Amino acid sequence: MVKKSYDVIIVGAGLGGLKLAELLNNSKLNVLLIEKRSTIKTLTKNYFGTFLEYIQRWKLQKYLIYKCGWGFYTTRSQTFKKLKGKSLCVLEMNKWTRSLKLKCDKKTNIQIVKLKREKEQITLYDQKNHKYTAKLVVDCSGIAQTISTLLGIKKSKCDFLNYVFIMKNHKSKNRNEMFYFQDSNLTNCGGWFHTLENGKCLVGCAEFTGPNTLGKKELRKRLISYVKNFYPLNKYLKNAKIIEEFCMAGPTTTMHSSIVEDNYIAVGDAAGAGGPFIGDGFRMTFAMADSAYDTIKEVFKLNDFSKRALQIYSKKFNDEFGKWYKWSYLWRFMYLRYTTNKELNLFTEKLKKFNDQDYYDILVSKLTPKILIKLFTAKSFFLLIKNMFIFHILEPLKISKLPRRPIVLKK
Ligand SMILES: Cc1cc2nc3c(=O)[nH]c(=O)nc-3n(C[C@H](O)[C@H](O)[C@H](O)COP(=O)(O)OP(=O)(O)OC[C@H]3O[C@@H](n4cnc5c(N)ncnc54)[C@H](O)[C@@H]3O)c2cc1C
Repeated sequence: MVKKSYDVIIVGAGLGGLKLAELLNNSKLNVLLIEKRSTIKTLTKNYFGTFLEYIQRWKLQKYLIYKCGWGFYTTRSQTFKKLKGKSLCVLEMNKWTRSLKLKCDKKTNIQIVKLKREKEQITLYDQKNHKYTAKLVVDCSGIAQTISTLLGIKKSKCDFLNYVFIMKNHKSKNRNEMFYFQDSNLTNCGGWFHTLENGKCLVGCAEFTGPNTLGKKELRKRLISYVKNFYPLNKYLKNAKIIEEFCMAGPTTTMHSSIVEDNYIAVGDAAGAGGPFIGDGFRMTFAMADSAYDTIKEVFKLNDFSKRALQIYSKKFNDEFGKWYKWSYLWRFMYLRYTTNKELNLFTEKLKKFNDQDYYDILVSKLTPKILIKLFTAKSFFLLIKNMFIFHILEPLKISKLPRRPIVLKK
């Protein structure tokens, strides 16, 4: 039976696990990185969009495919902002993973299936019943949330389902292009399009998961409908061919009840760290890996791995991101419940008048009350009240119904 003791065990070699392992190259700690896949040289997903300030913060310029603004399109309206100085950057992250030179012990094809909490340490068991013990276990297992599940922590739910096509032969006139498109008859979240290297492009759509979430098959049908009918996709993708397609869950966008416990920290999707509005988990995952590293240095100096000592980690995350989340959730809640296509078109009209900074703040889920007020015209406010009245009063009485996205796409 393999048994080894470590200072830190990182479970999961995705964005968060690899970033933390890279940072821990600078420490003298005895670290183990565990991954259930057969390799740590690639990620489950290669392309990520994130904003320029985060590329600069983590010196990721080498992996950048292109920089662009961000457009928001509906069937009737469109707006495109240049986001000067805050451009959206599309990165090829498998280049980054291949460039890493990690000093820690690495184990692939290992799946953690059992956990035992012992005095001042945690012991993990893999599928072959091998034991790995650590003073601190960092859950970087993404939406699997393996360690929190084994610890019985109330988990955040995974609240996106994505369907993605990689296509070739597209006719996008502008290579540096990324936009988000929306038609609430199709999905309750929307979709996105961007060009990739070697003349490929990526087109995807996503659902916020909820009681009436579309399944995988239906979501694929919606994506085909976007591709065929949605301007300008129908123009760009007229003769394009699907060369790859995948359906994925994620990211998680509601925080765990706790992201620290005795001898335990959660990072990235394993902590429910995505942004509530567009779910951009990349910057949160990297920021959490940074905070986890700072926290690890601190607690090893103190030789204290209790929940109380680890609280500095939650505070760091909350200071940088958490305080914006409540307004973003309020917006998402209202948007999912009461918005129809009509209001959505009004919303896009409104976005045209926003300056780059406000537009950027919306994209990064910094929905302050000031921005929420700006989003509402007198007309959209009236429509919201009307929709609330229909939803809460007329619908239960079966007098009228809000026009909702159909669960099965009509032919
Ligand atoms: C289709 C799609 C598009 C996205 N696009 C973007 C985007 O453009 N920009 C952006 O910012 N974010 C995007 N996201 C979100 C982003 O991918 C995640 O937020 C981010 O990858 C989270 O990183 P992570 O390290 O927490 O988890 P992951 O990167 O998912 O890594 C988790 C790792 O843990 C491993 N693992 C799981 N269980 C175990 C176990 N029991 N034992 C050992 N290992 C285990 C997995 O194999 C995996 O390697 C997207 C997500 C999806 C699904």
